[in-house]
Amino acid sequence: MEYEAVIGMEVHVQLLTKSKMFCSCSAETFGAEPNTLVCPVCLGMPGTLPVINRKAVEYTIMTGLALNCQIAEFAKFDRKNYFYPDLPKGYQISQYDLPLCFNGWLDIEVDGQIRRIRIRRVHLEEDTAKLFHFGDYTLIDFNRAGVPLMEIVSEPDIRSPEEARQYLIKLRTILRYLGVSTADMEKGAMRCEANVSLRPKGSSELGTRVEIKNINSFRFVKQALEYEIERQKRLLEQGKKVEQITVGWDEEKGTTVIQRTKEYAHDYRYFPEPDLPPLVISREWVERIKASLPELPDAKSERFQSQYGLSPSEARTITVEKEAADFFEACVSLYPNPRKLFHWITGEIFRLLGETGSTFDSLKFSPESFIKLINLVDKGTINQNTAKSILREMFSTGEDPEKIVEKKGLALIADEAALIKVIEEVLEANPDALERYLGGKESTFGFFMGQVMKATGGRADPNLASKLLREKLAQLKNR
Ligand code: ADP
Ligand code: MG
Ligand code: ZN
Repeated sequence: MEYEAVIGMEVHVQLLTKSKMFCSCSAETFGAEPNTLVCPVCLGMPGTLPVINRKAVEYTIMTGLALNCQIAEFAKFDRKNYFYPDLPKGYQISQYDLPLCFNGWLDIEVDGQIRRIRIRRVHLEEDTAKLFHFGDYTLIDFNRAGVPLMEIVSEPDIRSPEEARQYLIKLRTILRYLGVSTADMEKGAMRCEANVSLRPKGSSELGTRVEIKNINSFRFVKQALEYEIERQKRLLEQGKKVEQITVGWDEEKGTTVIQRTKEYAHDYRYFPEPDLPPLVISREWVERIKASLPELPDAKSERFQSQYGLSPSEARTITVEKEAADFFEACVSLYPNPRKLFHWITGEIFRLLGETGSTFDSLKFSPESFIKLINLVDKGTINQNTAKSILREMFSTGEDPEKIVEKKGLALIADEAALIKVIEEVLEANPDALERYLGGKESTFGFFMGQVMKATGGRADPNLASKLLREKLAQLKNR
């Protein structure tokens, strides 16, 4: 029998608010000393009261709108009760039956096909503290406790590990465009759980699912799902049942490891949070937020196709990162040749970023200085290869390209007298080749050009050098 994978994703995203979800402690916890960004509220002291962070609600609505969701007119917070040392109150404030956003969708592209993944809900909750396990004892850092956490839950519309990966990449792009999160998986700002089940191909029923936790990179999402799909397939083929469990991804072993059998909603004794008022979301507020949304990746990609003549895949490449798209547009406004700029940026700049593992927002040079470099090639001051090595230097130091040319004497030699001297030296040093040329073997011309380039360290202006060489050889022939 042929099986089909059915996958649904739950993605948690830390929001980039200044303060935490229900208190005024800083939410910028990255790199802070443990347990310095805490107060009685986020430490769960008895008698304290939470206050809702308006910005976090706004960011969640922004995300909901970007994901084509409906925005609730009435939403509320609920208590999700469970005991764990990283949860100081003994419950997490979350949203249960009335989330802020619901019924949306997100389009992804896999193998040239658009696939629409429905979004079930986007809701708001709070992050937990961080546990550090050392052998037989554990330390707790409460800085992260109470940081706003947004959860985005998809419908089980994803059909392959690669689709799951594309879904996460697209989500990250959108979150970064919106500026609501760094969405950095490696740093834990975006964390995902993948639910996966198998069913006979063609069936519309859902099989028993397994939830995979602890996935902290795009690569692992794919690996973990591939592994789990194979495991379930083997069980089903042996006539066994898949148990509804929660597993973790063990990146060292490359396997999933059972963590616990499935918990159910009723285990958490959800009830409305009595310390917080429900949220009534006015339509005016939603409209205002909608009007303030930035241009989103799909829209930008379409505009780049029609405005700049990029192909769909080129437009997608340059719009994955907003900073890259902005850089590209700033360059086009200074140098109206989008195709050439596209190739320079995605070829050379992307390469340098890839080599150093850095991103566009850390680029040290401006569009202005990048265009200066391209103009230097156009004017014939430097050749393409020199430009590439200058770009490398601009990339690491941020220095002006004209200054680099000057400092390193990289300009092409366009001085006739100097080039004639070099040509004469080359001819003198290669009498045999010269004889062959004069005897009619014209292909030796390329050899002489190569020698001229070599003698000048590649800096001879190629057009001028070739013209002068031709003239010189003609002279010798007619003598
Ligand atoms: P819970 O809240 O208990 O984790 P939900 O029913 O809300 O479970 O679903 C969580 C995620 O699991 C959603 O993304 C949903 O699409 C996905 N999901 C639900 N049932 C299945 C299934 N049978 N196979 C694969 N994914 C599933
Ligand atoms: Mg779940
Ligand atoms: Zn606090």
